Order: sequence, then structure tokens, then C-alpha cells
Amino acid sequence: MIMKVWQPGRIGSLEVDHRLIVGSMHLNLEGRDDHGAALAAFYAERARGGAALIVTGGIAINRVGAGGRMYSLIGEASHQPALARAVAAAHDGGAKIAAQLFHAGRYAFESAFGLTPLAPSAVFSNFSRCMPEPMSAEQIDETLEDFGRAAEAAAGLGFDAIEVMASEGYLLNQFLSPLTNQRDDHWGGDPSRRRNFGLAVLRMIKDATDLPVIFRISGADLMPGSSSHDEIADYATALARAGVDAINVGVGWHEARVPTVQTLVPQGVWVPYAEMIKDALQNADVEVPVIASNRVNHVDHAERILAGGKIDFVSMARPFLADPAIVAKSRAGRHDLVNTCIACNEACIDRSIGDAEVSCLVNPRAGRELDVPEPPAGSGPAGRFAVIGGGPAGLEAARSLASLGHQVVLYEAEPELGGQFRMARQVPGKRDFGETIRYFTAQLAELGVDIRLDHVITDGDAAELRGFDGVIIATGVHPRVIDLPGSDRPNVISYHQAFAEVSAIGDRVAIVGGGGIAVDLAHLLLDGADDHLESRSRAFRAEWGVDQEPVLPESKRAVTLMRRTGKIGAGMGLTTRWAVVGTVRHHGATMITDLSYRKITEQGLIISTADGDQLVEADTVIIAAGQEPNDELTKIISELGVPYRVIGGAADTAGLNAVRATSQGLQAAHEL
Ligand code: SF4
Repeated sequence: MIMKVWQPGRIGSLEVDHRLIVGSMHLNLEGRDDHGAALAAFYAERARGGAALIVTGGIAINRVGAGGRMYSLIGEASHQPALARAVAAAHDGGAKIAAQLFHAGRYAFESAFGLTPLAPSAVFSNFSRCMPEPMSAEQIDETLEDFGRAAEAAAGLGFDAIEVMASEGYLLNQFLSPLTNQRDDHWGGDPSRRRNFGLAVLRMIKDATDLPVIFRISGADLMPGSSSHDEIADYATALARAGVDAINVGVGWHEARVPTVQTLVPQGVWVPYAEMIKDALQNADVEVPVIASNRVNHVDHAERILAGGKIDFVSMARPFLADPAIVAKSRAGRHDLVNTCIACNEACIDRSIGDAEVSCLVNPRAGRELDVPEPPAGSGPAGRFAVIGGGPAGLEAARSLASLGHQVVLYEAEPELGGQFRMARQVPGKRDFGETIRYFTAQLAELGVDIRLDHVITDGDAAELRGFDGVIIATGVHPRVIDLPGSDRPNVISYHQAFAEVSAIGDRVAIVGGGGIAVDLAHLLLDGADDHLESRSRAFRAEWGVDQEPVLPESKRAVTLMRRTGKIGAGMGLTTRWAVVGTVRHHGATMITDLSYRKITEQGLIISTADGDQLVEADTVIIAAGQEPNDELTKIISELGVPYRVIGGAADTAGLNAVRATSQGLQAAHEL
């Protein structure tokens, strides 16, 4: 029987080939001064990869509503050719495309166009750090007219549908919520009047075009005191009765203190909100498709959601960054070749909040399809290259070289590929880091890369390496060894050893270091590695107080994280740090900064702070105080006379992260 996910569906008059929608992603390519070429190349690759319906990133209906300087402005003639090019790219690849009409309201950044953001009421935004101006009745009318004009323009540009951004705390969501709508006029004052703005937007769009209209509404704002579930259900019902063609259910505001899209968020935990909206619609006897979204990154998971019978479509955004051909590969049964999004946010959401162009940690070509084209198989040059090191940098280098048509030998000293991802996959919520290893292992085999595991390169390999046209050194890092009295004691181990032998670690742990690896390790030691989705979801909702009073989790150990200067977790991604440090705190970790280390004893670690010396009692002291380049091979290879590049941690550990590592892998393969 054909899987539900591959069955055709319908949104109003729009036939959609299957049930996976490419969710809206702001890429910051929209504002590139290239007449839309990079954006079109991005959409074209997803369309060719089997996408049925692509929703664009937010297209601002006017300047004051733009989320930033790099947003498309549909009302401005200079932006329209680029949008038309995006439409043509999607259509040429066989996909439909919906324009997401967007107004940020109080989430607009004042600096973008020098305009004071407009909102229903003057309520300070902790996201954009601004106090908006409350909209006058005239400004509301003008905004509605801008929505109508934007819809007309979208139809003229050839878009197949419109999605209205009414979720995640943007303008329409602000009108619905009592937190941000403190008006007492037609547009606010009680739940029914707070619905009026959204309904008026829908009417303006319906009057302006015949295009199907999707509303992306918030299934739960996750903001104390905001709209209740009943109010949200009433809003969805009112929209459905007013003719909306589908409801896409998002979750959480940017100001919410509940993580919604980070790795530690259990997959599918927000689907019940979409199901609740479907129930409300059915109870009201209105039949409108409901789209579930957020934290769904596997096609088989989407299938299970659809099989539940309530959800009509699943929207996935980041998985299409990670793999533009996720649909084509999955449809062909090649799940092993799907490059799975690991929800790190490091190259996508973290960048989209600023002006940097979005890409993807596991697929550094994302957003660079135009700049880094890959020729069709068999059409490239045929050199012979060696890659030394099978961590993220080396894996991407080997993949890119092989995709360019080269013969590639990949040497890895360990018995398995993956480098530091082999540690990361143990951390609660980071199981999908193992999927990256699965993907590269399968993809490299598919491309014919000769993988030699357990192979340590020595001087004796020099003759063999001399026979290559180029060598990429991606040998990674060594944990930094610290010079501290007692650091050679048996109760002291490196973070490498800690990840390798978690069960052997005592009940009281002191971690020297407070960067991303130290925080992840603390999370693992405190929380354990329970991968059972249902129990993780229950624990997550309790910990973060989702629809209940928060209940702090029990911890498996007492863990103290220490950092000489700076914040615990400094260097972690913008959207990840607060969530992971928060969960470690919830689990009772002690965090000490601004200190110096004195010595390690049998009882633990003695540190010095402004309050004097103190003993941090510990059975095990773990050193996670940074890394040093593992670059011993560089000298040997530089003397061979073959072109070479050093990438990833082997090149430089300052500010090292996996985004930079994979990006260097891609770049080195194209430059060598
Ligand atoms: Fe997913 Fe990370 Fe890639 Fe973003 S950068 S799409 S979160 S893997």
C-alpha cells in the first residue's frame, strides 16, 4: 500500500503531489544583490529533489514589517524580478510555491530600515529589543491594504498559494494575544475582537486573489498569560469558517523561555497542538486541512504522524536544508542516503536571526548551490585524492571530492567514521548526530570512496601518498592537557575518556571547562541517555512547564562545571546555549566561573575564587578545557611535494565548530 506521506493532497484548489511541505525558511539570500539567482538555485535544487510545495521565507508586505534588512519586500518593484525568478525555479523543477506574507510587528528590528516597529500596543519586545509604536486605526487600515496588495502581487508573480505568518509571535499573533494586544477598540479588548485583525487579513487576501490561503497560526504561544488553547481553537475555527484553505500549526514565540526547535526538544512533541486544532475544526463541523510542523525531521516519523489520521500534511523546513533530495531519496527507499537534519541550528536559525546567509552544518552546500555547483555524476574531472581523517571535515571533503568525479581514499585511524560526532550522539537529544555518520558512511560507499578504517598514517605511508593528486588533512584535535598539580592522578580523565566510559564515572563529578563539549558532557552525566521518545517527551514537558507547573528533573549525579573566565556555554549557538545550559541547571548542576585552579587531590579539585580557596568534592575530575590541533602529519605531507590542505581542527582550534569544519571540507575539495 502506498505510504500516506506519498499520497496526493489538496489545499483549496491546489493539488499537492504528496504530504511533505517545505516549511518557510528565511535564508538571507533574499536580500543578496544578485537578482534572485542564489535564491532561485536554492529552490530549484529542492524542487528537483522532489519537493511538492515550497513555502518561501517571510516576504514582508511593507518595510516596517520586515524582519530585517535582507527580507524580500513584495511591494517594491526592485524586489519583484527576484521573486518571479524564485517562482520560475520552483515550477521548472516541478514544485508548487507559496508566498509567505509576513509582518514582524514588534519583532521587527528598528535598525533594519530605521523605522520604529508597529504593533497592536506598546509592549517592549525582548526579541528585537525595541518598544514598538501602537498602531493607529489608519495604520491598521493601511497594513490591511498592504496585505491585499501583497496578495495581488503574489498572484501576478505566479505563486500558487499564499501562507500568512500568524505564528511565532509576529504581528498577527500579537493581535491575538492579550499579552501584546491591550487595545479596547474593534481590534482588541476581548478574545473575539483580538481575532478581528487576522480575519480582516484573510478577507483582504481573499478579496484580492483566488489563490489558496494557508494560515500559519501558533498552536501554543508558550508565553505565560497568552492566548488559551480554547481561544486558539476558536481562532482556527473562525478562520476556517471565513474560508481559509489550510491551517499550519507552529508553536512558541521567539521570546518564549521554552525551547521549541533545539536538539533537546523531543521529536514530534508539538504535534498534539495540531491535532487539537483538527479536533476543534471537526467539532465545529468545518473540514480544513491541518499541517503539523516543528521538530519533525524523519520521513518515517512524518508517516506515523499522518497515519494517526488527524494531520493532513507535515511541514518540514530544516530537513530540506540538510538534504534537498530528501523526498526523492525517501520515495526511492534510499533512507540510508538521506542527510538528516540534526537540529543544531548553528548554520540556519542562528544565522537567520542576523544578516548572515543561511547554510547547513551537515550540508554546507545549502544556500551555496549557485556558488558551489556539483556536476552530474560522471561528468567531472578524474583525479586521485586522499583524505586523512573521517570526522565531519574529512567526511564532507571526501564526499565533495567524490561528487566532483574524483577517486578518493579516506583514511581513518579509528574503527568507525564520525570523529567527535561519535561522542555527541550519546548526549540526550543528539542521537541524530549518529544519523550524520550513517549518511556519510552510506553516501561515501555510494560514491565509491575507498574507506580505510583503523588506518593510522605513518612515515611509511609517504610513498603511497605521493601517488595522489592532492591530500586533505582533517585529523581533528587532541583534548588539551592542563598543567595542574595532581592532573596525573587516577581520578582525572579527559572528556574523550569520559564519553567512552560514562558508566565508570562516579556520582560526584567536577568538569574543568565550560564550553560546548563540557556542557554536553554535563547533560549526559546528569540526564542519562534515555532515547525512549514518549518518556523523553513527558520529562521535557514537565521540566519546561508545558501546560503544567514545572517539575525539575532528578539527576543521576552531582556535577560541577567550572570556567576560569566567561560564561558557561560561551561559544555555543545562539539558540542552543540558553536551552542546554538551562536544562543542565534544571538538573542541578553547579556552575562556577571567574576562578583559578589550584590542584587536584583524592577528594576533588581545589579552586580559588573571590571568596578564597574551596574544595569541589568529586570522585572524578574531567578535563574539558579545550583542544589542540592534531597536526603532526602536516610536516610529513608538506614534504611530499603533492598539493595539500589542512582543514577543521587540525588547522586551527580557535573558535572551532562543526559548521566551519564541514564548510572547509567542501571548500578544500573544490579548491584542490
Ligand atoms: Fe539542521 Fe543544523 Fe543543518 Fe540547521 S544547520 S538544517 S539545524 S543540521
